[in-house]
This record gives sequence, C-alpha cells and structure tokens, in this order.
Amino acid sequence: MQHPGLVIAVDGPAGSGKSSAAREVARSLSLRYLDTGAMYRALTWWLLANHVDIASTAAVAQHLRRAKIEIGTDPHAPAIRVGGADVAGLIRTREVTNAVSAVAAVPQVRAHLIAMQREIIARAVAAGEGIVAEGRDVGSVIAPEAPVKVFLTASEAVRARRRSADLAGQPGVTVTVALTQTEQARRDRRDAPQMARAADAVEIDSTDIGLDEVIREIVSLVMSRTAGAVWTS
Ligand code: C5P
Repeated sequence: MQHPGLVIAVDGPAGSGKSSAAREVARSLSLRYLDTGAMYRALTWWLLANHVDIASTAAVAQHLRRAKIEIGTDPHAPAIRVGGADVAGLIRTREVTNAVSAVAAVPQVRAHLIAMQREIIARAVAAGEGIVAEGRDVGSVIAPEAPVKVFLTASEAVRARRRSADLAGQPGVTVTVALTQTEQARRDRRDAPQMARAADAVEIDSTDIGLDEVIREIVSLVMSRTAGAVWTS
C-alpha cells in the first residue's frame, strides 16, 4: 500500500549521491522517480548536437522548445529521450556535464522545464502513485508543498571521488579525481543561483555514511512525516 500522492523532494549538489538514494527510495516505497537534472542534461545535449551557441541566452531561448524531451518515471528503468532517441548515455558525458550549468541558468529554460516537472509530479499525484523527485530546487521551487524534503550533502573531496568513479565506468574516459574536483567546484559555483535549499528540508550529510544508511534515513523520515502510512515492499 502506498501513501496516495506522496511527494518526496531530494535536493543536493553533484556527487552527493542524491540520484542513487532517490531512485532506491522510490523503488523500496513503490513510488515513481523523477531525475530533473536529466532534463537539463537532455536539453543541453540537444543544443550542442544542433550547434546552438549555448553562450547566447537568446539563441538558447529561441531554440529550446524544438527539443522534444520525454522522461520516464519508472525507478527500475529510468528513461530519457529527445525527439524519440534514447539519450541516457549521451547526457552523462563530460562535455554535457561541463556545459549544462550555462543552459540551466537561462530563465526561459528554467520556466519551460519547471512547468514540465510540475506536470509530471501532478500526474503522479493525481494517479495516487506518489513520486520521488531529485534535483537542485525541487523542495523550494518545483514542489514546495512536498511533505518530505531532504537536502543531501557530502564533502567536496568525497563528492569528487564518487563522480570520478562514475566517469571511470564510461568507455575511453580517463579523468583524475583532482580534475573532477576542479570541474565540480566550477559547476557548484555556476549552479549556486539554482541551488535553492528549502528552509524546511532535512539535511543528511553522506560524507561518512554509505548509500544504505542514507536510504534508511530518508525512509524513516518518510515514515515519521506520513505517520507510517507508507510500507516498504
Ligand atoms: O543532477 P545533475 O548533476 O545531473 O544535474 C545537471 C545540471 O542540471 C546541474 O549541474 C544544474 O546545472 C542543472 N539542474 C538544475 N536544476 C535542477 C536539476 C539540475 O539547474 N533541478
């Protein structure tokens, strides 16, 4: 049994482990899952692939609606497509990662993607399914009414180690932890205006704890906020 229409917001910086934690929480509570960062990445990938000058706010604003982004909400098989093409792997490249903050800073981009994200969340709620949505501004901007909000952090060094372990899994990619940390610090700076931590979010610092412990903490927070009306499957 699920808590009808439950919305769980998981925000935090790159490498904090929020994607893995959010997906696992969605799986164990049988909720939908929304990776809002994947949508910014998909749009960035499309703009780069179509040679749109992402340094030009006007060019990005002019072309952004041409990217037909579709995102799945199954936590067992997260899917992201642009114009019908599967871009799940393409959006995780270093090139996209290093370009995405500039695109995400464009107000028209945010307005467009936030409207889509709100609609996806509203659909899950209307279907009585509930959803775990993760990103930078879920608890503060996209779904400020969410009854459960988590802000996941970790030290810069630990986040960089996790990110470079992820990147090491990509064919042909060799990046050092030091380079990853430098690029991560730059992305943190550029993302700072978008990182809107909700005042009522519960902070979980994952520097010294593993993914399982983070998941346990989030699930127990959900239980306390919903008076135990959510069961793990
Ligand atoms: O979460 P992830 O690292 O995949 O997000 C990629 C980028 O998308 C971030 O660096 C940020 O620029 C942007 N983003 C955002 N708002 C969100 C989620 C992601 O601006 N809610």
